Amino acid sequence: MAQQDLLETVRKHLLTCKCDLGLDDDVYEILRFPARELHASLPVRMDDGRIRVFPAFRVQYNDALGPTKGGVRFHPGETAESVRALASLMTWKCALQNLPLGGAKGAVACNPRELSSGELERISRAYVRAFFPLMGPERDVPAPDMYTNQQTMAWMMDEYSRLAGQNVPGAITGKPPVLGGSEGRLDATAIGGCYTIREAAGGIGLGLRSATVAVQGFGNVGYHAAMLVRSQLGCRVVAVSDSRGGIYDSRGLNPEEVQEHKMQTGSVVDFHGADNISNHDLLELDVDVLIPAALEGVITGENASRIRARMVAELANGPTTTEADGVLSQNGVHLIPDILGNGGGVIVSYFEMVQNFSRWYWDEAEVHRLLEKKMVSCYRQVLETSRKMNVNMRQAAYMEAVGRVIQAMKARGWV
Ligand code: NAD
Repeated sequence: MAQQDLLETVRKHLLTCKCDLGLDDDVYEILRFPARELHASLPVRMDDGRIRVFPAFRVQYNDALGPTKGGVRFHPGETAESVRALASLMTWKCALQNLPLGGAKGAVACNPRELSSGELERISRAYVRAFFPLMGPERDVPAPDMYTNQQTMAWMMDEYSRLAGQNVPGAITGKPPVLGGSEGRLDATAIGGCYTIREAAGGIGLGLRSATVAVQGFGNVGYHAAMLVRSQLGCRVVAVSDSRGGIYDSRGLNPEEVQEHKMQTGSVVDFHGADNISNHDLLELDVDVLIPAALEGVITGENASRIRARMVAELANGPTTTEADGVLSQNGVHLIPDILGNGGGVIVSYFEMVQNFSRWYWDEAEVHRLLEKKMVSCYRQVLETSRKMNVNMRQAAYMEAVGRVIQAMKARGWV
């Protein structure tokens, strides 16, 4: 899907709420656009001594509910349009989870595979220098996303603190625990997703102990999701993939062994005992649960009718187009929409901010207890709205989220 399309997709989701929420033309006009965005050019000294300039973006979409929050991607394909769309998604995700946060997103257009650790550190620090005036625990708080990780967040937090002249752990989340990161943040998105899969399976009468699962994407979210559906829910993970392709084994894969293979070879492809398949094949496998955990726009009007999974749990952001949504609904596929299914990451990021403010740190069991409570109650609320209003799960999730943002905008006197 072209990046512009993701923003259009999100706008169409917004429109589905129009008649039911009092989302009038004025409010819709505001919600169609980001509140502010900054584009920067990051001059970075490369290892060979030359300077390269990387385009960078930060979009703060809507801050009616509180300071904005959203990840930073390091990916060559990111543009102002893609970041704008992802910032919009973050707004609805934070609102749906009832967090006192608005939505934002950021990116540096670079290819981390071609960069050394030193170059990545200099890009991370340059990003913070460029956006420092817009950042901070009460303004906008970045977190990890595609091709950024705990180390990236550690460099960013350190740079922010140097510029502020004091230690400010709450300015960035997804940090390593030694710098004030929360226990349980690393796999929070995947664990949160598993709670919703468990709830949904109960509702559609799917026994998870014998269920088959395919996971697209084998990074932070996809790897942990594959691990957890197997170890916590007892599912059989029959297929996984990454940017180079996928693998299939009907007997089930051990994600830890696949991860070891990926560490040695750079990809899941050619894992012993499994068949190589394409990313397209993976999406159309005859499995019980399909988990897209990589890129946006992979389930489209073209392939949606061939999706055979009973449940699609969107752990990636924006994996399904609006056309595909309609087809999946018609075919009775139970969809856990992204703003619901992958909310675990931002929930634990919020917990991290709370711990940083209070300087009181929780153990992993406490983080999981609170995360489960939030994910389960949110899932049930969306399901109830979907039944009550006779709309699909995505529309119900948007109704909940958009309604809350409109309420905050009205209370502030913006509309
Ligand atoms: P990551 O960088 O750790 O992993 C991305 C994975 O996707 C890698 O395995 C990569 O090989 C794979 N990939 C890239 N292009 C692909 C392609 N064309 N086909 C198949 N696989 C491909 O990123 P992540 O943090 O795991 O994020 C994955 C998705 O989850 C993104 O959509 C992200 O926005 C979303 N998400 C992440 C978090 C989080 O906490 N990290 C939270 C919410 C949502």
